[in-house]
Amino acid sequence: MPPRETTLTEFIIGEQRKFPGATGGFTALVNDIRLACKRIAYLVGKGALAGMHGAAGSANVQGEAQQKLDVEANEVFLRTCEWGGTLAGMVSEELAQPYRIPGEFPKGRYLLAFDPLDGSSNIDVNLSVGSIFSVLRAPEGVAEPAERDFLQPGAQQVCAGYAIYGPTTMLVLTFGHGVHGFTLDREIGEFIYTHPDLRVAEETSEFAINTSNSRFWEPAVKRYVDECLAGKSGPRGKDFNMRWIASLVAEAHRILMRGGVFLYPRDEREKSRSGRLRLLYEANPIGMVIEQAGGRASTGYGPVLEVAPTSLHQRTGFVFGARREVERIETYHRDYNERPYDAPLFGTRGLFRAANGA
Ligand code: MN
Ligand code: MN
Repeated sequence: MPPRETTLTEFIIGEQRKFPGATGGFTALVNDIRLACKRIAYLVGKGALAGMHGAAGSANVQGEAQQKLDVEANEVFLRTCEWGGTLAGMVSEELAQPYRIPGEFPKGRYLLAFDPLDGSSNIDVNLSVGSIFSVLRAPEGVAEPAERDFLQPGAQQVCAGYAIYGPTTMLVLTFGHGVHGFTLDREIGEFIYTHPDLRVAEETSEFAINTSNSRFWEPAVKRYVDECLAGKSGPRGKDFNMRWIASLVAEAHRILMRGGVFLYPRDEREKSRSGRLRLLYEANPIGMVIEQAGGRASTGYGPVLEVAPTSLHQRTGFVFGARREVERIETYHRDYNERPYDAPLFGTRGLFRAANGA
């Protein structure tokens, strides 16, 4: 006999038994999220055969072109999670306003915010994509939640996680007591508990940032990246590697598995928009996972989970991963961001110039 495996369902029920006051409603909700992710994993896995490749020809509320799979994955989440009686409302990257639970279904006590398909520009090139979800409590006495009811700091999430649709499909989640990873066994159609108690190492020598934005970076970020690039002979005294997948889920997953730090900082293009990633259904759930794994999740200036949201699709600078690195980046924002950074990398004393013999 092989050792007995624990399924996600068994794991959730076990967690519920640890908290005698817990009701089955929460278990049912996580089961619905799990089913939505399995359905999306199926569509993503079919690739071009599902007839789902390419642009949908529409744009979402944020003006981003939607892929067919963005639209379909959004429908899967809504249809799978609306009927179970666990939710009072939902918010999605693909919807301008909160989704109202149809009148024929009972309503529950939780709110769900999600990014149905993260990294969707990776779909057509067969690279990893994912789904991100965040569960909040509906405020007491609210049956028909409005936008303001979703505007809770990430620290109030009761559950958060993501699915990654890579060579294997995994579900990674936290209920506020550590981070747990499950791998989809396609033969039996169940997520199996394969990665107990995931931890992010405090130190790293691997960073991830989109350097094509470097001319817009604030002084603190320029300084941090310059010091990494300077390697052994620079102030950090060690060589760094760089990664960039352009999918938040894939970046977060890599950092959970083997460490690292990720930056999509606020930059100097649009001060009012302050960053690229969305607070409610990207930065907050990923932030909770990372913090629960012992890492740190920040806006660059302070803990992302403490930000009081002001709108559904609000953006934020986002820096997360190895605790020591994120703390260092926060220090740079605090201590060095006011004065312009004299970037040795791109200036007359530049490494690139030196390398060219100039
Ligand atoms: Mn996304
Ligand atoms: Mn998306």
